[in-house]
Amino acid sequence: MTSPILPGATLGVLGGGQLGRMFALAAASMGYRVIAYTDEPDSPVSSVCASTYHGSFDDTNRLKLFAKEAQVVTIEFENIPVEALRVVEEFTHVRPGAMVLHTAQNRLREKTFLSANGYPVVPFKAVNSFEGIQIEQFGIPAVLKSVGFGYDGKGQRVIEAAVETEQAWVSLGEAEAILEKFVPFEKEVSVIGARSPAGEFAAYGPIENQHKNHILDVSIVPGQISDALANEAIALTRSLMDALDVIGLLCVEFFVMQDEKLLINELAPRPHNSGHYSMEGCPTSQFEQLVRAICGLPLGTTSNHSCAAMVNLMGDLWEHGEPDWAAALAVPHVYLHLYGKRTARPGRKMGHLTACCRTVDEAVTRAKKARELLSRTRA
Ligand code: AMP
Repeated sequence: MTSPILPGATLGVLGGGQLGRMFALAAASMGYRVIAYTDEPDSPVSSVCASTYHGSFDDTNRLKLFAKEAQVVTIEFENIPVEALRVVEEFTHVRPGAMVLHTAQNRLREKTFLSANGYPVVPFKAVNSFEGIQIEQFGIPAVLKSVGFGYDGKGQRVIEAAVETEQAWVSLGEAEAILEKFVPFEKEVSVIGARSPAGEFAAYGPIENQHKNHILDVSIVPGQISDALANEAIALTRSLMDALDVIGLLCVEFFVMQDEKLLINELAPRPHNSGHYSMEGCPTSQFEQLVRAICGLPLGTTSNHSCAAMVNLMGDLWEHGEPDWAAALAVPHVYLHLYGKRTARPGRKMGHLTACCRTVDEAVTRAKKARELLSRTRA
């Protein structure tokens, strides 16, 4: 057993987005020093961490300097090139490790790993050419997904009729892809597992997720599913974390089918948007939990203080100027988080609101009401 990495140490995060920012804030409040490595100028993380290494992910010398300064390094974005992690791994702990990222950042490798190990997944087939797409294989509609750089519905097309196949293939860049059955799920839920180097495990959720334009819109806790299904989702998450030897966090996204069966849609080895409710809704947030897990400290409590609902604030809300923050904050039991992004663009995640209440209905109503007030009271 290696000794824990204690407060006062320097933690590194690869990636500069909001997940890194909230990780850095949690780590700083526990007395750690956080450094970030990002290829983005003026990133959300840089205004809250001790120092930022700005550079590309293939700048080996800069990555080495960063790695030498940190006692442990984590990721906040799964599209960090695996080669960058391998460079960092030569100098310090990387948690989760490069192998986890290698599997999770490529849809074909991820689904092949899942199905080869007996986990329930949506039927899929690898495709390498337009001629190789047998569009009727799983029935229509079907979903064509590029194998790399996919999140928030990026790199995927729903094919509603056979004639749309060529256009979908071309729009995804005629690159390696998977064809997937379109599944008429009842609900989408996620579990965020945490695992320490000693194999200790804790889980958030299942969280119920509603998407808009393939991007998470609303998350609800507790997810409205049976206890049996909730336990199964948590057990699958634990088993996956053991199988992949994940140290840190792993978000598992599930489709809940009408026959009460679970199918795994996607894995993300990092904090997840659906877990933001934990900042106010749980004794230990997912960000503090990531700090604890990668530092080899005891994991914190993940039970819910209350019911919670989280709504994302997208750049679209800025369409007519600055949102009315005071109006939203006048709604009781509502918390505001903004990620410090200078430019608001439609479809860009700018922040979120969480409501913590006695019932799920009350939490959803308050969170949505607060979001509505952001734009409604403006002329
Ligand atoms: P992904 O980028 O794979 O996480 O997909 C984003 C969203 O698209 C999911 O959360 C679902 O709402 C939807 N989706 C993805 N794959 C399928 C599928 N095979 N059948 C139905 N809906 C899907």
